[in-house]
Amino acid sequence: MTRQTRLAQAGINADPDSAAIVSPISLSTTHRRTNPECVGPFDYARTQHPSRHILESALADLEGAAGACVTSSGMAAIDLVLNDLPNHARIICAHDAYGGTRRLFDARARTGRICVDYIDLTDAAAFQPALSRPCDLVFIETPSNPRLRLTDLERICQQARHAGAISVVDNTVLTGALQQPLKWGADIVVASVTKMLNGHSDMVGGMVACADAARAERLAWWLNTIGVGGGAFDAYLATRGLRTLAIRAEAQSASALELAKRLAHLPDIKRVDYPGLTTHPGHDIARRQQSGFGPMLSFEVDGDGARACEFVQSLSVFTLAQSLGGTESLCCIPALMTHAAMTRDERRQAGISDTLIRLSIGLENIEDLWADLLAAIDR
Ligand code: PLP
Repeated sequence: MTRQTRLAQAGINADPDSAAIVSPISLSTTHRRTNPECVGPFDYARTQHPSRHILESALADLEGAAGACVTSSGMAAIDLVLNDLPNHARIICAHDAYGGTRRLFDARARTGRICVDYIDLTDAAAFQPALSRPCDLVFIETPSNPRLRLTDLERICQQARHAGAISVVDNTVLTGALQQPLKWGADIVVASVTKMLNGHSDMVGGMVACADAARAERLAWWLNTIGVGGGAFDAYLATRGLRTLAIRAEAQSASALELAKRLAHLPDIKRVDYPGLTTHPGHDIARRQQSGFGPMLSFEVDGDGARACEFVQSLSVFTLAQSLGGTESLCCIPALMTHAAMTRDERRQAGISDTLIRLSIGLENIEDLWADLLAAIDR
């Protein structure tokens, strides 16, 4: 059965007792036992509850994983993975990973729990020497947010494995609908369910999907121990969102590609970052390891940061807001918003200038979106 069909039926008929097509939201925090020692499929909702279980099964299937955990946010998902590492573990992280990921790793490094090096993972020459010292985990984000740099998953995951490190891929932007990192040798996929997976900007959640069943079980143990599992209503919403993921991803990618092509021809735009453009340095990688180019693009406007601010404030079909992957189109200035946690120097190294604008393309009519962009440029 194709992925599109399995997604369209995510969580459908999952409750044979009631014969409900869509399972009810399971709000009970605790489940009855028949005797004190006998635990049924569900016991206490921090450990697991039916709504989260349905979503975890659908996400594991989407990523081709042995098991998945659903957490209360994307950040909680990334932090959950760290629990399975030895003390003082060394992490190599993509230098342009999401600002919140860097903030988390830096904070954990300050307490001595881990140590972290930031490397440009698109640069093979920089990665190999970084592996000459023992490394436990390589953290990849492809496409990276907001510059949409692409990492060759097969190559980096293989190098990491040879060096004895596991590889973790943040698949927030593309999701398993457009890219399946486990197929390319990654050990773990993490994602913010808040974004494209749910797709409707109405819940916050995260997921960790593991190639190895034993690792998935250990992370489920940690999820219960530290209590970061996702709640029932959020799981219900995300499962509902998943059912349209395949067609949303396809439609949003098609609009993003068309807008990227049009923007690339405008004189006021300095550079458009979108892997679907044949001029993008990662275009060949995208064609090989992705089945679509995704909803996010970024570009630089001519001028200074003030001009970029004026630009985003004069858009009206696009809303100025953080986040991405929803049905509604959003715009943001990463340097002032999503990546404000990074220092100016870190942003410079990651190629995030004050004039960089990120767009998340939704499901609106493309001509309305284009007219909005053109009007903002004219103004
Ligand atoms: N990973 C990426 C690539 C993100 O863009 C984000 C949030 O913007 C996260 C992780 C964190 O997800 P959440 O906001 O659900 O905690």
